[in-house]
Amino acid sequence: MNDTIAAISTALGVGAISIVRISGKEAIDIASKIIKGFDVKKVESHTINYGYIIDNGEIIDEVLVSVMKAPKTYTREDIIEINCHGGINTTNKVLELLLSNGARLAERGEFTKRAFLNGRIDLTQSEAVMDLIESKSNIQRQMAINNVEGKISKLIKNYRNKLMDLISHIEVNIDYPEYYDIEIMDDIKIKNSLEELIIDLKKLINESENKEIIKTGIKTIIVGRPNVGKSSILNSLLEYEKAIVTDIEGTTRDIVEGDIYIDGIHLNIIDTAGIRKTENIVEQIGVEKSISLIDDADLVLVVLNGNEILTKADEEILEKTKNKTNIVIINKNDLDKKLDENKLNNRIVISTNTKDINGINSLKEKIKEMFNLDEIKTLDYTYLSNARQLSLAKSALNSLENAYKETLDNNPIDMVEIDIKDAFDKLGSIIGIDYSEEIIDNLFKNFCVGK
Ligand code: GDP
Repeated sequence: MNDTIAAISTALGVGAISIVRISGKEAIDIASKIIKGFDVKKVESHTINYGYIIDNGEIIDEVLVSVMKAPKTYTREDIIEINCHGGINTTNKVLELLLSNGARLAERGEFTKRAFLNGRIDLTQSEAVMDLIESKSNIQRQMAINNVEGKISKLIKNYRNKLMDLISHIEVNIDYPEYYDIEIMDDIKIKNSLEELIIDLKKLINESENKEIIKTGIKTIIVGRPNVGKSSILNSLLEYEKAIVTDIEGTTRDIVEGDIYIDGIHLNIIDTAGIRKTENIVEQIGVEKSISLIDDADLVLVVLNGNEILTKADEEILEKTKNKTNIVIINKNDLDKKLDENKLNNRIVISTNTKDINGINSLKEKIKEMFNLDEIKTLDYTYLSNARQLSLAKSALNSLENAYKETLDNNPIDMVEIDIKDAFDKLGSIIGIDYSEEIIDNLFKNFCVGK
């Protein structure tokens, strides 16, 4: 952390502007060696200045330079951001000059890592920065920015304060046994507080798990015999021609994928080759893939042709998908109805055709209903955003439940305290108090360079 780091912070490619960023104790010194036109050392903090990048007297670029002095910066160190003309050569040259004058190339996420290590943001906020960069939908963005602002940290800190309160009560009981007469009252207080905390933490974990779907999206697979209209349905959902639609059986041989958003919730939809026994090797690969994809999917759309009677192959597909979350789509309802719906008892059925939008809209409505998307949307977005945070919260909950059980069993108070302290520490790890180097390195490794 003592060295000064530099990296290109914008995506490398041809564009109007690229930003090269440098952070650390020597940021101003190093930048001043390559910038002419104004004195980097003398300008006021948080100003944008016009100048040139110079290499041995040669002008490399005409630039705008943001000078931001510690501590009110992203990393809490001195930061200089050079806005140069976009383009791979110029941008690389500016970076190269910073490196040859004493900066070190930043690792992935190292600017954010410094922000964390210097105490500007905690671990949940650092993770949220990455979520924000990666967010694809409005809801994902809203949830990420909520955590960048520190809403989840605040909640966790609040739980920790309550636990600290309990720990101090217990310590008083242990250290001043002469106040034995008030212990019974404290016991009840501890029991009640634990109960409350357990309820709150459970609720947070449950809601966070429900919200996982916003982040990960709904993995959806479309299955059905060839020619029932799978590709056409996918196209209607995507509203553009990605899958090739033809009349020849088995045209969708390989897997065709598309992404749609229903009210901001991401659905990754996979269209498969029809599930049926086939001699054709290429098609066979597709068929095998679709069977394994069914197992992985969050939602299976089973497509049948309403204009034909139910075939043995249809029945097999219905059987294979009956234990998954699924919707049976009776397609081609613009043609004569030949399919006997009585055989579809106990299934969720939607009638569609791909000639108009009504069926597709009712399909979207049904998906919204099945995954409670309206409810998810109205929930507030304070949540544990990844597996690391969730598993720590679960183990904190486990310790609290143990502590609660011990109070019920009238176990010695110092035993109860051990579990409460354990929950306190686990919650602390969520926000990055007591972190291990390994966890931190792993976490920031997933960031992009320059962030
Ligand atoms: P897939 O093999 O299941 O993917 O089926 P396709 O999407 O390739 O469709 C097979 C044929 O059925 C094509 O000629 C489509 O135009 C036609 N088709 C698809 N959906 C409908 C529908 O709702 N009504 C009618 N009449 N034809 C449809």
